[in-house]
Amino acid sequence: MSENKVEKGYKVKPKICKLCKSHKGVISKYGLKICRRCFKENAEHIGFRKYD
Ligand SMILES: [Zn+2]
Repeated sequence: MSENKVEKGYKVKPKICKLCKSHKGVISKYGLKICRRCFKENAEHIGFRKYD
């Protein structure tokens, strides 16, 4: 695998929680970009539900 491959027109953004600005445990999946703590607190507001 090559490390030199650069995707044009795409800037790598740092993973920072858009809610609390934390960079710890930030979930970038699903386009959330929020930390696990905020995810847990806001999951229902965002539309995610717990499946437990
Ligand atoms: Zn957060």
